[in-house]
Amino acid sequence: MTAPATAVGHALDPDCLFCKIVAKQIPSRSVHEDDEFYAFHDIHPWAPVHFLIIPKAHIASMAQIGAEHGAMMGRMMALVPKLATPEGCNPYPAGGFRLLYNTGDEGGQEVNHLHFHVIGGPRPWLRG
Ligand code: 5GP
Ligand code: ZN
Repeated sequence: MTAPATAVGHALDPDCLFCKIVAKQIPSRSVHEDDEFYAFHDIHPWAPVHFLIIPKAHIASMAQIGAEHGAMMGRMMALVPKLATPEGCNPYPAGGFRLLYNTGDEGGQEVNHLHFHVIGGPRPWLRG
């Protein structure tokens, strides 16, 4: 049994794009969904594989993460290798993937709801 989505963040921010995607108010192409997380294809992929993993609870960014989020962050990170290969990333070490989490304006974050970018697949990529 996983922790409820409200345990470590706000359940929903009505002004947040990714909260609207979680609520299915905005359509997205699903990669994975469980009680705690949603993964979906990035609308502007950089590479053959480019999807995002987000907590369903609204947490703005990595800047808000503290020790109380440790277990949740561990579960979120464990989803990365679990989903990467079925989505088309080649196996490690010849394949692999890039895990990116932009944080804040200077960190290049455009959507203020914590998300992991999982980027991979055969090169060349458009970016990165
Ligand atoms: P950031 O720059 O905040 O790290 O990344 C935000 C990502 O969200 C970008 O890669 C962008 O392409 C993606 N994105 C923005 N709006 C949407 C949307 O409406 N749907 C999907 N699937 N991805 C989006
Ligand atoms: Zn949100």
